[in-house]
Amino acid sequence: MRPDILNPLFAEISLFKGIGPALARPLERLGLARAVDVAFHLPTSWVDRHLTDRLDMADAGRVIGIELTPVDYRASSSARAPFRVDMVDRYGNHVALVYFGKNSGWPRKLLPLNEPKYISGKLEAYGDMLQIVHPDVLPPEEASTLPARESVYGLSEGLTNNRMRDLVAQALTRAPDLPEWIEPSLLARKDWPAWREALARVHADPADAMARARLAYDEIFAGQLALMLVRQSSRRRRGVPIQGDGRLRAMLKLPFAPTGAQRRAFGEIEGDMAQGTPMLRLLQGDVGSGKTLVALMALLNAVEAGMQGAMLAPTEILARQHYETLRKMASGLPVEIAILTGRDKGKVREATLMGLADGSIDILVGTHAIFQEAVQYKALGLAVIDEQHRFGVAQRMMLASKAERSPHLLVMTATPIPRTLTLTYYGEMEVSRLDEMPPGRQPIQTLVMAATRLDEVVEALARHVEGGGQAYWVCPLVEESETSDQAAAEMRAESLRGRFGDRVGLVHGRMKGPDKDAAMEAFAANRTQILVATTVIEVGVDVPNSSLIIIEGADRFGLAQLHQLRGRVGRGDKPSTCLLLRGNALGETSRARLALMRETNDGFRIAEADLELRGAGEVLGTRQSGEAALKVATPEHVAALVDSARDDAHLLIERDGGLDSVRGQAARVCLYLFEKDAAVGLLRGG
Ligand code: ADP
Ligand code: MG
Repeated sequence: MRPDILNPLFAEISLFKGIGPALARPLERLGLARAVDVAFHLPTSWVDRHLTDRLDMADAGRVIGIELTPVDYRASSSARAPFRVDMVDRYGNHVALVYFGKNSGWPRKLLPLNEPKYISGKLEAYGDMLQIVHPDVLPPEEASTLPARESVYGLSEGLTNNRMRDLVAQALTRAPDLPEWIEPSLLARKDWPAWREALARVHADPADAMARARLAYDEIFAGQLALMLVRQSSRRRRGVPIQGDGRLRAMLKLPFAPTGAQRRAFGEIEGDMAQGTPMLRLLQGDVGSGKTLVALMALLNAVEAGMQGAMLAPTEILARQHYETLRKMASGLPVEIAILTGRDKGKVREATLMGLADGSIDILVGTHAIFQEAVQYKALGLAVIDEQHRFGVAQRMMLASKAERSPHLLVMTATPIPRTLTLTYYGEMEVSRLDEMPPGRQPIQTLVMAATRLDEVVEALARHVEGGGQAYWVCPLVEESETSDQAAAEMRAESLRGRFGDRVGLVHGRMKGPDKDAAMEAFAANRTQILVATTVIEVGVDVPNSSLIIIEGADRFGLAQLHQLRGRVGRGDKPSTCLLLRGNALGETSRARLALMRETNDGFRIAEADLELRGAGEVLGTRQSGEAALKVATPEHVAALVDSARDDAHLLIERDGGLDSVRGQAARVCLYLFEKDAAVGLLRGG
């Protein structure tokens, strides 16, 4: 349970003063629901207040602080026009204070005529008048309490910076002094302030790097500690040592020999699986590096030992594809492979559940559905999670607790992420890397073209298709909504059908499952030659005959995402092309980003660049799935602090695995503060 000391911070924001229905939407858009959300809504920049006593010496556009006297009220005849208060400075210069909203009572009360006030706000030129909209008003003797620097916050329509500052002030009054969780010598070395002071300091002065670093460290530390707890709890569970005899693997008839990297990775997995503690291993390999084969070998290892294996895919399309691929690779082997997704209902589902329970099914492939309560395995020995970045630590934990004896866990990701990120998000796991591509890979040529040359693109597509090739056409993210993605894809498919007829297929995220499958199957079987798609084809889809991919609105995608998309081609024996269509008025950064795509096919370099340009959520693809990206820590913070946070967390767990000591208790507070409740739940009696 969350410690009481944090309760005020987790109070709903609706309890704050001055929160009307008008603020509900803007706050929701910013994800601000509780005091803690506001407290961690740190300022993004600042303006320095220009203190003056003469309006005619102040610049419009700047935030000023000045003593003024109200001399007149200007109510308006129209209900929609604002209420104005005419103010003068000591030299007789005028400015209007502007109040929107119906009730003119409170500005009158706040600003009685002829009583000087200290006013602060952004001076604006309105026609040849000066005005300040919704200023701060203080009695002149309190002028010195106004900080010289004003924090600027991320806002949303309907929410002003002043309002935000007021909410932050309220959140800060709810922020308690918290016990110190940072290791004393580190705290002393860094000269960091205590938590509450650090928070107040960052809000008061967004440029306070030291206070920010402390808050960032807290967040990174909480993350590391949570991962260590996952690891500790997994290590404490008993797993089943698995040692297959190799008889099924020997029966595999592959058209190729495994690469050295595949052998090495499998060797590491085999070693882990033989242990009595459950494996926690991450298999990292760029698109096309051949992770599926490694997974199959691991699954067969389990089946040889009389156990079952499960493989989890992030989407229906991928689950079906893995199912087909595994069946094809394992054809002729006495291995029963089944599929289970949310779509399977009724008798089919019943039969699968039976087969799992009685052990007649050896390997189950599926989506989230394979986690459900009703799914009982006879002897689950290995769980493989493909394209992990769509899943979070919480899901990994859920899977681990599925069986009485924990299954071995293999997580696969195609996102080649920098080491600091691996530590941040997969810190509880050992890592195997497929750092070698299968031989004979055809190069992918990447071209960037202006979208205005669409006719040429369609001509190139026509030549490609006439030559017997297949192609993907990926449609841009119009807005951040599936509906508009769908509209864009439908329109593109429509216009291409005008030229290519029923050789054009369409697949998008909002299609019904069976329709999606049908479209994918038609393309895989070369019954359609052009597949118009949204990013649903982003991960893992494998149609080797497709050697051209056209990506519309390429500048709107993240680089890591473009790299994933591009990885859909270059899988067959023909050289491939990736055409990136860009908008016309591209900024410097967008140009640089697309140029990098043209220049390199090195996923690692691309991920590093993306991390710098767009942040961790983008690289990991967690933005959409809603797994909390870091709120406070920037990539620079992570790079600078993750190693000490990791050491610190490690040491703490070694000394005090139950987090019972004084510092352990403080660390629990830190975990709850960053909502790692599930991790604390792993403590015995936690
Ligand atoms: P990913 O790592 O992206 O999941 P896949 O497992 O889908 O990659 O493999 C990509 C392609 O490479 C597949 O068509 C697969 O059959 C092929 N492949 C895998 N291993 C080898 C190998 N050792 N030699 C040649 N081709 C391979
Ligand atoms: Mg794959």
